[in-house]
Amino acid sequence: MLEEYEKKRHFKKTPEPLASNFTKNSDKPIFVVQRHAARNLHYDFRLEVDGVLKSWAVPKEPPKEAGTRRLAVETEDHPLAYADFEGEIPAGEYGAGTVEIWDRGTFKLLKREEREIVVTLEGEKLNGDYVLIRTKYGKGEKGWLLFKKAQ
Ligand code: MN
Repeated sequence: MLEEYEKKRHFKKTPEPLASNFTKNSDKPIFVVQRHAARNLHYDFRLEVDGVLKSWAVPKEPPKEAGTRRLAVETEDHPLAYADFEGEIPAGEYGAGTVEIWDRGTFKLLKREEREIVVTLEGEKLNGDYVLIRTKYGKGEKGWLLFKKAQ
């Protein structure tokens, strides 16, 4: 699952982590949102599922309140160790730019289907029920919507 992650990166040049050496502090699954000032500023939304971080690139800040829908483009799985990563990816490397942790915490998985994922996030900024819905369904389709559920 992490082949694509490793193929895209030169680990002698980037400070990003390899898959190994990661200790979790929580029994619950973790999530992280990283603000990534790359060529285009975006927010990488990552959920721990099946031992990896399932990942989506969100072009604007994820909504703290219900009522705003964000596009979320599915990207390659990242290793769990990536949840702790902050730093500078050097120019010329994949994703060159600055990565900062914007929010992190744990979550409860409420629903996981091919077209829909629902989680309760327990973070500093993001709290409550969040929905990811696949906008198109088919091979190679990577478009999802991310939004907070109205209570
Ligand atoms: Mn990114």
